[in-house]
Amino acid sequence: MKSLMLPLLLATACTTTIADHPFEPADVPTTSTGRLQDGAATWSHEAVVSARWEVPLKGVVNLDHPAAADLHNGPVPIVLPVHVLQHPEHGTFIIDTGIPRGLAEGDTSRIGNIGVKQFVKTMQPEQPLASILEGLDGPLTGVFLTHMHLDHLLGLPDVPPGTDIYVGPGEMDSKNLNNTLVRSTAMAALEGHGTLEVWPFEQARSQAGLAALDVFGDGSLWALHTPGHTPGSTSFLVHTEEGPKLFTGDCSHTFWGWEHGVEPGSYTEDHAENAESLQHLKTLQALFPDIEVFVGHELPGEGTGVAAMEADGGR
Ligand SMILES: [Zn+2]
Repeated sequence: MKSLMLPLLLATACTTTIADHPFEPADVPTTSTGRLQDGAATWSHEAVVSARWEVPLKGVVNLDHPAAADLHNGPVPIVLPVHVLQHPEHGTFIIDTGIPRGLAEGDTSRIGNIGVKQFVKTMQPEQPLASILEGLDGPLTGVFLTHMHLDHLLGLPDVPPGTDIYVGPGEMDSKNLNNTLVRSTAMAALEGHGTLEVWPFEQARSQAGLAALDVFGDGSLWALHTPGHTPGSTSFLVHTEEGPKLFTGDCSHTFWGWEHGVEPGSYTEDHAENAESLQHLKTLQALFPDIEVFVGHELPGEGTGVAAMEADGGR
C-alpha cells in the first residue's frame, strides 16, 4: 500500500481498520462443479489507464528476495488501471476504480489527511472513472475490487450509488497503522454506496490451489482468493473473446514480480501468504498456455519499470 511511503504523521501508535461499512455475503453460486478451463469465451475486455504514478521499487517488489539481488531501490512508474468487462447477458463490470473526476481536476476535498493529499497530488490523471463510464454503451452493473487499498478505492465516488460492489473477506478486519492515515479518505470513497458484497470463498471449491468462485455459474468469470497482500485479495480469471485473461490485482504489482515469482515488497501485509498465492496463480499458465496476464500496476506492452531499474543498476 502506497501509504507506507507517507510521512509518519501519527502522534499515537493506534491501529485501526481501513473503513467501517456494512457488508454481507455475495449471492453467487457456490455449488458449481465447473472447471476453470471450461468457460465460454463470452466477455469483452478493455484496459484503461486512469492515472500514472511513481512509487519506490521496494514497495512493489520484495528486494530481500534472492531473485531480486540485482535490483536497487528507486522510483518506478506504475499505472492505476481500470479493467472494463462486458457480457451480453451479465452486463458491465469494472475491476478496480482508478481515480475519480474530482481528483483528476484537482479537487482534494475528499482526501481527509494532508499527508495523503500531498501524496495523491503526485498522480498524473489520464482517464477518471466518470469519463470511462460515460464512454460505455450501458449502465455499470457492478464493481470488482481486487482489495481495499486506497489506490484501488479512490474512483468509487464516480460509481453510481446502488451499483453492486464486491470485495474479498476480511478486508475491513485488517488493522494497521497506515489505516489511521487513509481511513477518512476510504470512508469518503465509500460514502453513499450500499452494502458491500463479500465473496463467500469459504464455500468455494479449490482449483489450482485457490478457492475459486464461478461468479455467474457458467464458468465464464472466476473470482480467485489470493490472500497475502491483504486478507481478502482477489484475482479474476475471465474467458474473453480474445482468450483467457488473468487479473492478478496486487498479488503481483509488476511483470518482473510475476515472471520471477517474487511477491510485492513493503506494501504487502503477509509475505509468505502472498508468495504462496502468487505461486498458485502461476500454475494457471500450465492450464492456459495462451493466458494473458494483467498485473496490478503495469500493463502488457508498456514495458516494465522494474526491468529498466535492473538494466541501469538502479541509478
Ligand atoms: Zn495494494
